Amino acid sequence: MSELISTNPSKNYEVIGKVKVSTKQEVIDKVAKAHRTKKTWQQLGVTKRAQLMQKLVIEFEKAKEALAKLIAKEMGMPIIQAREDVEFGLEYLASYADSAEKQQKPILTLETDKEIHTVVHEPYGVAACIAPWNFPFGNFAWVCGQNLVTGNVVIFKHSEETPLCGKFIEDVVTKILPSGVFQEVYGAGNVGEILINQDVNLICFTGSTKTGAKINQAAAPRFIRTSMELGGSAPGIVFEDCDVDEVAEHIFENRFINCGQMCDALKRLIVHESKFEEVKSTLLKIIANKKVGDASNETTDIGPLVAERQLKLLEEQVADAVAKGAKILVGGKRSSGLQGAYYEPTLIEDVTKDMRIWQEEVFGPVLPIVSFDTQEKAIRMANDTQYGLGAYVFTKSKKRFEEVAAQLESGMVSQNNVSYVNTCNFFGGYKMSGGGREHAQFGFDELTQTKVIAEEK
Ligand code: NAD
Repeated sequence: MSELISTNPSKNYEVIGKVKVSTKQEVIDKVAKAHRTKKTWQQLGVTKRAQLMQKLVIEFEKAKEALAKLIAKEMGMPIIQAREDVEFGLEYLASYADSAEKQQKPILTLETDKEIHTVVHEPYGVAACIAPWNFPFGNFAWVCGQNLVTGNVVIFKHSEETPLCGKFIEDVVTKILPSGVFQEVYGAGNVGEILINQDVNLICFTGSTKTGAKINQAAAPRFIRTSMELGGSAPGIVFEDCDVDEVAEHIFENRFINCGQMCDALKRLIVHESKFEEVKSTLLKIIANKKVGDASNETTDIGPLVAERQLKLLEEQVADAVAKGAKILVGGKRSSGLQGAYYEPTLIEDVTKDMRIWQEEVFGPVLPIVSFDTQEKAIRMANDTQYGLGAYVFTKSKKRFEEVAAQLESGMVSQNNVSYVNTCNFFGGYKMSGGGREHAQFGFDELTQTKVIAEEK
């Protein structure tokens, strides 16, 4: 029997649990069960499904502190942020329940004295949902929640890095939803591969661009609809009219939250030359006051990375930059005196576009900083990436912000401290960040197929 071994990256990878890996036959059986269940779930109707989602939110509310503690222990997210991950996921689950009825109303497209035409949305059926580890609850809520309310039944594979979080979620959800509506499978990429190659009707994937491309390839010959939420390398442009003290803390939070492991984190800082030294020195002061340590400790600001393999990748990316002439302003190495996947918060200058830290997604506490003189150059540098998820613009000028936002090749753009992550918006990117559209009406459209009904009056 094969098992996933769960470890604590804050405590030198101490083993904290094991979860049995799903066999191919188990995956096949779960897909078959999902098909047997899908009609009843669809016929239950949106009102009742939304009520069940509300019940689920209440059930998770009861379990939220235990879940946050598990996230901190298994994934390494500082406990204060882990509580936010759970609250945030619950806010989204509640929003899907609240808005579903309105979204599912048929759309009248034509009415004459002889004919009525409407467009109705129908669920796909069986959705295979696959998630990464970086927000163990938020990822589940985003990839599965709206699917369920919409009327799809879900087979969910959580990441192999967070199998205990996966089990915790499965136990809570299956207490509330009818049997077969939500099932989980456990394992690494090979189990995900088995799942997406079964008779599923929709694949909702959150994870790296590399894996997303493989899944798209597997789905294309069968014309299976996919929704892709992939990697990012968001630019942050700081213009000369900014108050550095006002924006620097925000930049720090955005880049270093969850130890830099956030898809739309600000991963490349592009600063007007007149503010370059001030931004650097302010960030260095902020970093010096932050505490790196055990994620379960209430006073920790930055925990470990999720796993040794992420730490090694980060080391390679930073070593490549240094070999090509980059200068480390702070950090640039594993944290001394701590045992686990710890890396010091790092600021790097003299960065050039041939470096891996500029070209690749950097999933860790490392921020490259470059300068610009003209707006055109700033936009060119911002767009100089295969990714197009988030983008951040720091300026007091509304006119400039709107001009720049219109030219950025990103699915989401924010000015100063205004967050685009809101239940009223979609989350999703341009270019190789995917093009998936989660949440609100946009997500609902993505998770349903439309049918024209043309009838006599
Ligand atoms: P990953 O692509 O390695 O794995 C993601 C999931 O896919 C895991 O559950 C994994 O087991 C599974 N998987 C791997 N190979 C597979 C295959 N061939 N077929 C099916 N499933 C397979 O990504 P990761 O390292 O777990 O997560 C980090 C990535 O996720 C980053 O790139 C980050 O930007 C991205 N991310 C994106 C969003 C978003 O909404 N855009 C949100 C969170 C994370």
